[in-house]
Amino acid sequence: MRILVISDVHANLAAFQAVLAAAAGKWDKIWYLGDLVGYGPNPNECVELLRQHEHLALSGNHDWAALGKLDINDFNEDARTAVFWTRDRLTEESLAYLDSLPAKRVEGAFTLAHASPRHPVWEYILDYETALENFDHFDTPYCLVGHTHVPILVAEKEGDDLFIYVPDYKETIYLEDTRVIINPGSIGQPRDSDPRAAYALLNLEDLTWEFHRVNYPIVETQAQMRSFGLPEALVLRLDHGW
Ligand code: ZN
Repeated sequence: MRILVISDVHANLAAFQAVLAAAAGKWDKIWYLGDLVGYGPNPNECVELLRQHEHLALSGNHDWAALGKLDINDFNEDARTAVFWTRDRLTEESLAYLDSLPAKRVEGAFTLAHASPRHPVWEYILDYETALENFDHFDTPYCLVGHTHVPILVAEKEGDDLFIYVPDYKETIYLEDTRVIINPGSIGQPRDSDPRAAYALLNLEDLTWEFHRVNYPIVETQAQMRSFGLPEALVLRLDHGW
């Protein structure tokens, strides 16, 4: 079984379509790691597009925010504006679908969590200590997360030591026996200074992992965001991958 591992579409349909086109024929099922909506202009379209494919999915903090399941006082003003816009926009069907998703699940050798295995909805694995501590919070060999919008692979070494791999998009990685936490990056709002949409391919037979990036028509998403009056800072950050 070949898995398309994706996360954080954030209602950016043009980016989502570009990823599906680039990865066409290379996967059998999608594992979606959360935050389908929030920030972008196409929340319902992105829900529908995901549901057209064989998949399993998690919900993320922005999905919870849109559902009213999360206190959004911690969100900055632009993010809150986008949450209110998204709430108004989502259909009953989209809301019911998002509400049906867990924030964490186990699939064979993989624990899937939107944010972290310890705190599946809100914790950011962005520093060494947080990554290290989270290895004590899943029982499977491998853990997949989204949420930070930064593609990365963190491997547990002997003792309290981690190996941190930042993708160069050329290598096939063999997962083997080492416990790892991997983030495929974000489709709809990358935050590693690379504006291209991020995705990953996982082969469950030979346990190989590949990080990928693909260009998408950013101006299309930006034009739609402006037409809906979404905050300009959220429009501009797509240019910078931040
Ligand atoms: Zn997100």
